[in-house]
Amino acid sequence: MTLKATGVCPKCGSDSIARVPGHQDETSIIVDWGGYFTSAPVARYVCCACGYVESYVESPEDLERIRRKFKLYTPQKETKTP
Ligand SMILES: [Zn+2]
Repeated sequence: MTLKATGVCPKCGSDSIARVPGHQDETSIIVDWGGYFTSAPVARYVCCACGYVESYVESPEDLERIRRKFKLYTPQKETKTP
């Protein structure tokens, strides 16, 4: 489970969690350079007990833009190369 879903840190079990809203800053994901700069803010959830951090793009529109801009990730199957 995730810290975001449960409100409890999956690493240490603390429920002392801070939500840090995402901003258009160096932590956001750039999705478009066309004409003006568009980026998807990344919100962070921080465990105030152990410092564990989870990051989320929270806007469905931003997620759709990221899906269009970036290739979807497919894990590579382990190939045995000599
Ligand atoms: Zn923790």
